Amino acid sequence: MKRESQMTKRSKYGRLTSDLISQLKRIAGDGNVLTDERLEDYSHDETLGIERFKPEAVVLPETTEAVSAVLKLANEHCIPVTPRGGGTGISAGAIPSYGGIVLSLEKMDRIIEVDADNFVVVAEAGVPVSELYKAVEAKGLYYPIHPGILSSTIGGNIATNAGGMKAVSTGVTRHFVLGLEAVLTSGEVIQCGGKYVKCSTGYDFTQLLTGSEGTLAVITKVIIRLTLPPGKTEILYIPFSNLKDAINCVPVILKQGILPAGLEFWEQDIVKPVEQFTGREMPLNKHAAYLMLILEEPDEGRLNRLARRISDICLQNNAVDVYVPGSERARKQLIQARESFYLALEREGIAAIADIVVPRSFIADFVGQVHRVAERHSLKIITCGHAGDGNVHLWFADKDSPAIRQRVKKALVEIYGIGVEMGGTISGEHGIGLAKKEYLGIAVEKSRLDLMRRVKRAFDPNNILNPDKVF
Ligand SMILES: Cc1cc2nc3c(=O)[nH]c(=O)nc-3n(C[C@H](O)[C@H](O)[C@H](O)COP(=O)(O)OP(=O)(O)OC[C@H]3O[C@@H](n4cnc5c(N)ncnc54)[C@H](O)[C@@H]3O)c2cc1C
Repeated sequence: MKRESQMTKRSKYGRLTSDLISQLKRIAGDGNVLTDERLEDYSHDETLGIERFKPEAVVLPETTEAVSAVLKLANEHCIPVTPRGGGTGISAGAIPSYGGIVLSLEKMDRIIEVDADNFVVVAEAGVPVSELYKAVEAKGLYYPIHPGILSSTIGGNIATNAGGMKAVSTGVTRHFVLGLEAVLTSGEVIQCGGKYVKCSTGYDFTQLLTGSEGTLAVITKVIIRLTLPPGKTEILYIPFSNLKDAINCVPVILKQGILPAGLEFWEQDIVKPVEQFTGREMPLNKHAAYLMLILEEPDEGRLNRLARRISDICLQNNAVDVYVPGSERARKQLIQARESFYLALEREGIAAIADIVVPRSFIADFVGQVHRVAERHSLKIITCGHAGDGNVHLWFADKDSPAIRQRVKKALVEIYGIGVEMGGTISGEHGIGLAKKEYLGIAVEKSRLDLMRRVKRAFDPNNILNPDKVF
């Protein structure tokens, strides 16, 4: 059967007439409906090498009632709606590829309550995570999930089930979402979960909506579990003379029962772009590969003992050296360097990033095979990632061009196949969005895809909510 073209698929949808724009203005307020040159800002997110699509209007609701009325109107007129948080996504999930309305949650940015008795924060979905951290820390509490960019919103983090560097010991966003308020395309508002950890009361829509990438409902309010802040933090930065030794050291550490807050690896090729981007030299910057461990312990004594134990293990397993920053400033600089990988490589004009996850004991084998695939396709790949949780990021480091993109696509099919064969999957934390949907079938078998489609139809029978995404 011939595949429908993008144009044919788009033409099934209604257009935003001036009358509908007026109705949107009555719902959300005149200043909260954009139809001018600012549409350009909402035509892209942070995804590499992907086409931009302008929406017909951007709506910035300030209340759940307004979100509900916008969705109801859009549903009645079959207008596509793309929910958007901070626009920092890297799978093109917030790009309005069918036009219509971008529904940006950026004005729903209130912290409703930090409930210190129940260790929860209740907030609107558009709160940037930077503000969430500040609000909970002011009450002596802590939200341990740190995706690499602070302007992302808590609603966007939930919609993508964001991960970050600390998944090894704490888990990912989904492990901290206790409840949600969400709006269905019918305009109905549902409340899922609450300020409690246990719940055996019917289907768990909180978890279903987490990671649903804006395709099932618009998340308007969130209830997040908090912890106490870590007592003391240290970083171990450990160079190796080859990548294999670095990665092979990871299971040795973990098998000792040591669970650091973060355990990252990267290759030498990333060092120079990062130094150029941050304007700072990295310590011990001439080695082939690195591990970086983030340690969080309740007191100084335990922290130092753990740091010594890990250093010994690494040195016995071919580490060249162990660098302990020792000061808060040096620790921050290392974390900042790690967090700047994406922006540093993006500035180099690289073609793509992939976000595969494999069982962590397979990382060394996986990375070895990835480099062989890259060689066959004459591509340059730099690997790095969250070694402690098996999440490997591949940077296709050739300068972006249509010819390179074609080669990257072919290589990716092979690489995803290898990852899935090892028991992994094609996205660990960035989501599928528009960028990876053509590969979803490699990781998800037909019966599960069909079930996903039926779930989608139950939530969104007219397929107006983030159409063109995930599948
Ligand atoms: C430099 C950099 C570093 C990054 N590091 C990490 C990292 O370490 N770990 C990681 O996991 N990700 C990382 N990311 C990716 C990105 O920050 C995350 O995917 C983040 O969760 C997106 O949040 P956002 O608010 O920007 O969402 P957006 O980009 O606006 O949207 C992402 C998706 O969520 C949907 N969505 C957004 N808000 C809602 C809502 N309220 N209701 C329903 N659907 C919604 C959108 O439709 C879209 O499908 C990084 C990105 C950059 C640019």
